[in-house]
Amino acid sequence: MNNPQRTCIACKSVKDKKELIRIVRTKEGEIELDPTGRENGRGAYICKDSKCFETLKKSKGLDRSFKSQVSVDVYDRLIVELQSL
Ligand SMILES: [Zn+2]
Repeated sequence: MNNPQRTCIACKSVKDKKELIRIVRTKEGEIELDPTGRENGRGAYICKDSKCFETLKKSKGLDRSFKSQVSVDVYDRLIVELQSL
């Protein structure tokens, strides 16, 4: 079986896509978690691990992934969303 692999944008580990969660920027410019992986928009993958979310926040990793400034509030909201999955 062919498991698609993706790289975590925080720790750079390559993992099976299903072990990661997609973060999407919708065409309205909203940045949110995409647990289904099916939302339209530019996506980035990250481990389902709050440590990686914290790393991402410190490194401002989403700025690079989405080529725009992402406020700290967005990172905090994503961490809360992760915990409620
Ligand atoms: Zn990671």
